Amino acid sequence: MDRRTFLAGLLGGAVAAGCGSGSGSTRARRPLPPVPAGLPADRFVLGVASGDPRPDSVILWTRIVADPLSGDGGIGKAPVPVRWEVAADEGFGRVVRSGTAVADAALAHSVHVDARGLAPDRWYWYRFRVGDRTSPVGRTRTAPAAGARPDRLRFAFASCQNRQDGHWTAHRNLAAEDLDLVVFLGDYIYDEDPDPAAVRPYRSADPVDLATYRARWGEYKADPALQASHARFPWVCTWDDHEVSGNYAADHAGEDYGDDGLSRKEFLARRAAAYRVYYENLPLRVDPPRGADFRIHREVAWGRLARVFVLDTRQYRSDQAAGDPSLPAGAGPITDEARDEGRTMLGRAQERWLGRALDRTPAAWNVIAQSVVMGRMPFVGSLYNLDQWDGYPVARRRLLAQLRGVNNPVVISGDFHLGALGVIPEDPEDPTTPPVATEIVSTSISSDFPAALTDVAETQIRGLPNFRYVNARRRGYVTCEVSAGRLDIEHRVVDTTASPTSDVRTDAAWTVTAGDPEPRPRPTGGA
Ligand code: FE
Ligand code: CA
Repeated sequence: MDRRTFLAGLLGGAVAAGCGSGSGSTRARRPLPPVPAGLPADRFVLGVASGDPRPDSVILWTRIVADPLSGDGGIGKAPVPVRWEVAADEGFGRVVRSGTAVADAALAHSVHVDARGLAPDRWYWYRFRVGDRTSPVGRTRTAPAAGARPDRLRFAFASCQNRQDGHWTAHRNLAAEDLDLVVFLGDYIYDEDPDPAAVRPYRSADPVDLATYRARWGEYKADPALQASHARFPWVCTWDDHEVSGNYAADHAGEDYGDDGLSRKEFLARRAAAYRVYYENLPLRVDPPRGADFRIHREVAWGRLARVFVLDTRQYRSDQAAGDPSLPAGAGPITDEARDEGRTMLGRAQERWLGRALDRTPAAWNVIAQSVVMGRMPFVGSLYNLDQWDGYPVARRRLLAQLRGVNNPVVISGDFHLGALGVIPEDPEDPTTPPVATEIVSTSISSDFPAALTDVAETQIRGLPNFRYVNARRRGYVTCEVSAGRLDIEHRVVDTTASPTSDVRTDAAWTVTAGDPEPRPRPTGGA
């Protein structure tokens, strides 16, 4: 490091310390600890990431780890000073901000740096340094200024990356796309046992506490394809169920996934561990969790062009209505229990927050980013997945009422491991009512859709009045290009997840014109 960079670094550090970051890992005026002895040469094995961009800042993330599969990361208890640098160029000739954050054992030696004082609407490069070792370089960008009307926002969204179900060929291809942002809709990890017959059986055990969730996340984060995708774009993340426990609802452990024997107290202890490890591993612009409570709903603005409302459909929801006991995982008809007026998906506080945020959004396009399918989707006969919004019809009607009068609402969803696209009518159970939003469902990055159900589910969903497209056979992600007058959508699918590399192609392309939620097909033009 030359003298100028060093002085710029001191200045950047002073700026960071003066502003504070609220992230729990960049502490104001704390004396810096020394670099602990005995750190391994390769100390950035989980890569780097950035997220939740604003016009003047972005969150930068890394974790200092020796052994990703060990419950404590294998580097002991001592705090580690982590230098960070943000540059205007890939070669780091023009470092514009820098500082030192402290990675504490209490947060698994993660850092969440709020790199402030950046210029709006431009790309930056960032890296970390511990002692004489430098991390891989990440690329990130800021959002346009609040009043700006940028020409476009290009983002991808994805969900459901069960690591043992397949290779992340989708991430390898995602990393090569031309994007501003990646939105991840949950099931980042899966809470399940190793399956010796799987494509990539887990080496970590089914997570139940801090040490085992850390090991499971370490196993995920160590994958180079996932790291490439994070290092290329800022991400905006929300969760679904499997980051904690399959099909959990607020303080109810998930049923059908082996966790249903837990008492409420035991389950909340597990949720607290899972939430903390979620925070430790992602570049989130939120306060760290307090016990089992962790507010992650928030919004990301792209000038006056687009706004992304990031919802939490797990932490506050009513328990799923009882399904047909002869069927797996809570499938069943919509019962009187499901229609109870008192039931909620978002919880009262988040609903109020969303209502207020939607009332004042100036954006031309308003993206509701959340985990589970919102439109009516019986998948076999009249059987519904009661974990989806279908199991919460009254809460769904309240949310759709909040969308009335909002410019171009677009709901993006994941969870179901199939790709789909359609409209959501004002009354989702009456397809003759006018459409209020477009809904785009991303297939999984790697999680399996049950082979025995593929044909029947595709045939049924294709015949539903509110859906225009379905593909349950392919894994992948969705890209969206937003401009003032239109939204261009592509369902991008990979050929295989059985090997580490695969081609990607556009399975279907659609355009939504401003003012009309109905998507129109567009020629795909080859690759
Ligand atoms: Fe999933
Ligand atoms: Ca899920």
